[in-house]
Order: sequence, then C-alpha cells, then structure tokens
Amino acid sequence: MMKSTEDAMVAEYLKADGTRCPFCLESDLDGEGVEIEGGFAFQRIHCGGCNGSWEDKYRLIDMVNIHAPEDETVAHVPAE
Ligand SMILES: [Zn+2]
Repeated sequence: MMKSTEDAMVAEYLKADGTRCPFCLESDLDGEGVEIEGGFAFQRIHCGGCNGSWEDKYRLIDMVNIHAPEDETVAHVPAE
C-alpha cells in the first residue's frame, strides 16, 4: 500500500474515532487487551467484516478523579 494511501486511510479512521474498519468500513471491530507503555497505550483490533487487523495507539492526555493521599506530608508539591 502506498504511504499516501495509508495516511489517508488512517486520517479517515481517526476522524471516525476508530469506530469503522479502515479497509471495509464495517463497525464489527473486536479489541484485545490494552498494553500501556511509557505514556502510550496499544490495542490490537480485528475486523469481523474483512479479517483485517491493526493496533490502535493512544496517548496519555490527562488524569481525572484524583484522590490525593490523606497524609499531606507524603505529597510532592510540583514546582510552579
Ligand atoms: Zn474490515
């Protein structure tokens, strides 16, 4: 597959938030377990429509539902 074709395919896939197979456009996608690696997460996806597969790649973008330790003396104070 030519690089530009692949880039266009990836762009279309990302635009649909990874909900449709980039090859056959079916939404019959199954994901395996998520692997976390240095601020990124990877998940192998299989399409039940055409049997294509690829990995979704996620980046750590935030932390939410934060519960600080009750003992404030153990908490690191970030530099301003
Ligand atoms: Zn497919």
